[in-house]
Amino acid sequence: MEKPKVKNAARAASPRARPKRKPKSLYAPDEVREIFRRFSVQRPEPKGELEHVNPFTLLVAVVLSAQATDAGVNKATRALFAAADTPQKMLALGEETVGGHIRTIGLWRNKAKNVIALSQALIRDHGGEVPGDRDLLTKLPGVGRKTANVVLNMAFGQPTMAVDTHILRIGNRIGLAPGKTPDEVEKRLIEVIPGEYMLHAHHWLILHGRYVCKARRPECERCVIADLCRAAVKTSTVPAPLTPLEPVGSVEA
Ligand code: SF4
Repeated sequence: MEKPKVKNAARAASPRARPKRKPKSLYAPDEVREIFRRFSVQRPEPKGELEHVNPFTLLVAVVLSAQATDAGVNKATRALFAAADTPQKMLALGEETVGGHIRTIGLWRNKAKNVIALSQALIRDHGGEVPGDRDLLTKLPGVGRKTANVVLNMAFGQPTMAVDTHILRIGNRIGLAPGKTPDEVEKRLIEVIPGEYMLHAHHWLILHGRYVCKARRPECERCVIADLCRAAVKTSTVPAPLTPLEPVGSVEA
């Protein structure tokens, strides 16, 4: 007897062989829009906290910020950027002097090497300018996808999503963008966040994670999305009053 034809290969596959479904956001599109609307009221013009004076110093600051706090990086870069705010000047300063400036930052030896190599590559391949392209950025020494996304967002106004430790935690904790890796969370966030909120979404989520939805104990009573949040750990269902906050650096720092 002729075997029935398999119309659909996926249907024929055993359950074990089926690709795993990606975890979905727990929020309907209207709820996601409302979450970001509230963040936008709180912080109409959110800013990153890494001090910089141009795209090059931003790139260097982000490279230095791996496994370090923004405040710690700022302390070290104020004098460094006063002495060198271009790849040419950074190269002239040399690895030893750069290392001397950033000695208070973790992994400083390796980072000093990268800053010099980065400056060389920018001069050699890009005329001393920071390229506004992810593929070109991630070819630079010490520059990964997250760093490239921060630079593209802050220096070039691109709606990228740089997933740091805060965003990875929030994406999973509240079920907005579940994912095991930063790349998975990034992809999911880009899928669910309405386009008009994408430019600032990265900063809103970081600041929310840094100051309210903290790692050890989220401060749900201060949270403007407490009524919408579906985190198992939440301790309040009453949203905090929705008012614009003082810019970061004055009250919150
Ligand atoms: S309610 Fe609590 S857990 Fe939910 S987002 Fe706000 S701070 Fe985080």
